[in-house]
Amino acid sequence: MSKTFDVIVAGVGGMGSAACYQLAKRGVRVLGLEKFEIGHAMGSSHGLTRILRLAYFEGTAYVPLVQRARELWIETGRLTGEPLFFEVGALDIAPEGNGIVEGALEASRLYGLEHELLDRDAIEARYPFTLDRNHIGLYQPQSGFVASERAILAHTALALHHGAQIHGCEAVLGWEPTAGGGVRVRTTQGSYEAGRLVLSPGAWIGKLVPALQPSTQVLLQTLGWFTPVRPSLFDVAHFPVFTLEAEEGGFYGFPLWQHPGFKLGSPHYAGEPYDADTPHREPSSRHLAQLRACLAKHIPGANGELLGLKACMYTMTPDEHFIIDTLPGHEQVIVASPCSGHGYKFASAIGEAIAELATAGRSRFDLSMFSLKRFS
Ligand SMILES: Cc1cc2nc3c(=O)[nH]c(=O)nc-3n(C[C@H](O)[C@H](O)[C@H](O)COP(=O)(O)OP(=O)(O)OC[C@H]3O[C@@H](n4cnc5c(N)ncnc54)[C@H](O)[C@@H]3O)c2cc1C
Repeated sequence: MSKTFDVIVAGVGGMGSAACYQLAKRGVRVLGLEKFEIGHAMGSSHGLTRILRLAYFEGTAYVPLVQRARELWIETGRLTGEPLFFEVGALDIAPEGNGIVEGALEASRLYGLEHELLDRDAIEARYPFTLDRNHIGLYQPQSGFVASERAILAHTALALHHGAQIHGCEAVLGWEPTAGGGVRVRTTQGSYEAGRLVLSPGAWIGKLVPALQPSTQVLLQTLGWFTPVRPSLFDVAHFPVFTLEAEEGGFYGFPLWQHPGFKLGSPHYAGEPYDADTPHREPSSRHLAQLRACLAKHIPGANGELLGLKACMYTMTPDEHFIIDTLPGHEQVIVASPCSGHGYKFASAIGEAIAELATAGRSRFDLSMFSLKRFS
């Protein structure tokens, strides 16, 4: 087995699996190293699905990246014969004037995205929500969700097809620069050398790059699946993905897909900082109570018995933007984590950006917003 590669990717989750595929597709000799099995439920990408919104209220600068990501999800789904992106539409609901719907509207207008501005009555007439008087919404028909667990396996399969080596159950213990300007990577199974190293360990970024520990905070989030009282109201043909900003907190949810339960989450749940090396992931009963409060008031048609809970990690930066940059002082090392709880939708395009950085030293995307310089 070869021990020398062009690029080693540490962490084969959402971002790392996409990077392995994009690198291998370009003929790069790539080794992907993953500490758990490929497609596990200990990181940030499990729970079946992730929302993809084009009209990005978090910042219009994200729109070109998410547009490219959407193209790549569709293309990759075609290549593997299993769709990865589902265009069910997305609805952002928020109190008028709080900036969310206004931000999504600005992004829609700036990039000519299809959209529809809805008042509370129009939303309630169309979908099974009970809203506050000041709620408005922006509907985006070209948005939807990505099958996140399936996508990691799809990217891995394509990377293998293009000649990548992927090692599951092999943790990276450390890395060091070599005299020739490359890197030596130590793992639980041995050591490898490469010209470049991509660090995409998600919530473990502070472990592999201790200098980033102060700029990243890991939070445990709880996702719930609830028995819909009237399932037909929430099927993929009739119900979009949504975000809902309400007095009870911020929420997001999905139509029924590959699970009989209605999936609901609440972003940025302000739990205690969490250590990614904790050996178990316990869902939070306080977080569940918040989800219940949302269902009871705003989505009563989905407020049936609990079917399941999963805990999943966010890795937050202070400004909630991502980190995609070379490591200062180590230009052969690219950091592509963390994604502040909203990164999955971009993973296909971030994989492409990483491959471009690793092979050409620059990407077609403007990555300045994700630079490490902002922390210095
Ligand atoms: C509950 C929840 C809901 C979310 N909803 C959305 C959403 O709707 N839309 C959206 O766009 N985003 C969403 N996100 C955010 C998104 O899922 C994350 O940004 C994304 O999954 C991060 O991908 P990643 O590759 O950085 O992390 P991961 O997929 O966790 O991958 C990191 C990998 O690195 C591995 N690793 C770590 N350390 C080592 C090591 N030393 N050696 C080898 N391997 C290592 C890990 O085991 C893991 O497999 C959500 C996140 C959560 C938790």
